[in-house]
Amino acid sequence: MEMPFAEVDIEEEFSPTSSIKAKNKKKRKRTTGRENDEDDLIKKKKKDQDRPNYFISVPITNSKISDGIHALQDTIIEKDGRLSKAMIHYGSFHVTLLVMHLSTEAAIDNAVSAFLKSQGLIEELLQGKPLDLSFQGTDHFRNQVGFVKLSESDNTTTLLKIAEIVKNLFQEKGIIIGDDKAFKPHLTFMKLSKSPKLRKQGVKKIDPHLFENFKNHHFGDEPMTRLDLCSMMKKKQSNGYYYCESSIRVEPGRWFLRRLADIKNDTGEKKGAEPDDAELLSLSKRLVENAVLKAVQQYLEETQNKNRQLDFGAPVKTEEPTLGNNMENGNGSRK
Ligand code: AMP
Repeated sequence: MEMPFAEVDIEEEFSPTSSIKAKNKKKRKRTTGRENDEDDLIKKKKKDQDRPNYFISVPITNSKISDGIHALQDTIIEKDGRLSKAMIHYGSFHVTLLVMHLSTEAAIDNAVSAFLKSQGLIEELLQGKPLDLSFQGTDHFRNQVGFVKLSESDNTTTLLKIAEIVKNLFQEKGIIIGDDKAFKPHLTFMKLSKSPKLRKQGVKKIDPHLFENFKNHHFGDEPMTRLDLCSMMKKKQSNGYYYCESSIRVEPGRWFLRRLADIKNDTGEKKGAEPDDAELLSLSKRLVENAVLKAVQQYLEETQNKNRQLDFGAPVKTEEPTLGNNMENGNGSRK
């Protein structure tokens, strides 16, 4: 089972002090007996109860990015076949914004309602501008997790702000956000915690040399148009993506419509007052810019797909492999 933030296990397993801690634990157990055993059991149970089992995901829907990661994974597997077990599957690539623990249906409902509230605030933050996330180069967390990097830009800062908005809404609802690490958005392509067998086979670290050729590779851009509240534990969808309790679309168009409605209301209230020409002009300018951008993007993608079909003589995956299918089950079923 792929678990974002399975670091709970990783930290314990791999921290240099863990073996010393384990020895001390054994010693304590021998001296104080059953009482400590029970304490340990309660502590373990408590820890399991708090362990993250849900997360907010930005799904990767651009097939260029997914194909690039696939090529990177193949390169690694060619060098060390055992690592195939550590690879994140095509279809479930995502960026985690935050993780949490939800233990009951009521807790899930509570989280869904907090999540839905974030839509308006996020659109307000973006003010009608599309948010393109650019992925370039590779890195790793303590040789345990390999990931594609998000290029530093204003858009990354905006993504951090979005994570903060969602986090605050969840916290207001009393939901425990289960992460004490600094948030560093990333796109994971492999993690050793996916397969405990690897450790037994002597694979304890990921060697970054295995993916050196991709160190500066530009994987592509992801226009962020959707956020999902996903389960780490529930059965994944048939397209490989996580089970979603709820999804929100982040569409610049809706913000424009809301602004236009606001302006209309304002002028209505002032009875006969003229709409603010400068604001209307700037809104329509941005609408046109967005439409042109979208059209160019669509044209480029269609041409790219056509060229690929000519190259390979077979149809290729469409632009958004996860997008359509994500809705087939486990998505939008609740709200
Ligand atoms: P995800 O991409 O959410 O599946 O995360 C993959 C793994 O990356 C998690 O299980 C964590 O172990 C690890 N991870 C995430 N963020 C950090 C961080 N800031 N520092 C170290 N490890 C991290």
